Amino acid sequence: MAQRRTSVSRRRFLGGVAFGSVGLASADLWAQRGGRPAAMGAPAADGSTEPYDALAKLGNNENPWGPSPAVMAAMTHAFKYANRYGYPDGNLAQVLAAHHGVTVDHILLGAGSGEILDVTGTTFLAGGKKVLGVEPTFGAVYQHASGLNCDAIRLPLRSDYGQDIDAMIAAAKAHATEIGFVYLCNPNNPTGVLVTAKEVRQLLDGLPPDMPVLIDEAYHHFVDDPQYATSVPYAKDGRPVIVARTFSKIAALAGMRLGYAVAPPALIKRMRPNSVGSINALVKWGGVAALKDGDTEARVKRDTIALRTQATADLKAMGFESIPSQANFFMVHIKRDVVPVIAAFRQRGVVVGRPFPPMTQHLRVSIGTAEEMAKFMEGFRRILVNG
Ligand code: PMP
Repeated sequence: MAQRRTSVSRRRFLGGVAFGSVGLASADLWAQRGGRPAAMGAPAADGSTEPYDALAKLGNNENPWGPSPAVMAAMTHAFKYANRYGYPDGNLAQVLAAHHGVTVDHILLGAGSGEILDVTGTTFLAGGKKVLGVEPTFGAVYQHASGLNCDAIRLPLRSDYGQDIDAMIAAAKAHATEIGFVYLCNPNNPTGVLVTAKEVRQLLDGLPPDMPVLIDEAYHHFVDDPQYATSVPYAKDGRPVIVARTFSKIAALAGMRLGYAVAPPALIKRMRPNSVGSINALVKWGGVAALKDGDTEARVKRDTIALRTQATADLKAMGFESIPSQANFFMVHIKRDVVPVIAAFRQRGVVVGRPFPPMTQHLRVSIGTAEEMAKFMEGFRRILVNG
């Protein structure tokens, strides 16, 4: 609990740094805490949101189109519960359980999947255990571990930027008694590279039998490679797998905070006491509506992939290769250090991803609207081609 308070106040502090400075070209305004965005959207001192609104926001893998009309209508309707503690919540947990074909005791809700990752750390690292995963990946997991005074065993990516399953199994066996859980982000952030269904099976079959594995499927909905499969069936079968999902990406609810875990009931039972349960009335109804809104989900996926395909093809035509991505972002190899380039984009009103060491020459670009992508391409030409 004390740790939770520390991290909240640190986030507030970062928010304070950004306050009033939107529009300035300082790269460290965009510093993130463990891969979690700082509050870059703080309004200017006069309360104006215009400087923020004008930015092309391609730095945080958000959904640029916002929630669908059905989701907005559901949340608007739920405002009538804003004054309540107990209220009808659309049976979100039951709806999620039905969606995945599990019983409700397999589901744990979180204020964003970030809370699920934190709860997993708090639960399974207790007593000074270590988390095992790759680098780079979604750094919040390692940051949270370090806040608990726990270490991480971080393995390098393969030369094709995939996650090295053989090395993960070997490290897990070598450090079996020290490891609290394994973290696998699939597809991985920041590369967008996935772990195939076959590799996931290899990992789960190769690890010590009871070792918990947190499989972060934040970008699940954008995948179109048939070699991929969700890991939810493992959780359903009682394997020690915790699948984390979020409404922040495909459903465009990042600012509303909703995510969840699907895991065997015994693991959920251990995790539940560490969750805060601070999910608001609006997003509960918004989440239920989003789950039913398959048309919007399909459109967001299709448009995201089309814009990503176009952007990476245009970059290739200019001589810059991107890592093939299965997510709503991609990494382009810019053949020079990303730090000054991030600042140059910022000066042009384009926010791109932060540096992801050791990939210091790869720029992560989130997919934005067609207009934002055009602004990015124009910036790219000016900064990296004609600059
Ligand atoms: N996992 C991954 C891989 C992410 O990239 C993010 C956010 N960028 C999260 C989890 C957390 O997202 P949220 O808390 O909004 O669900």
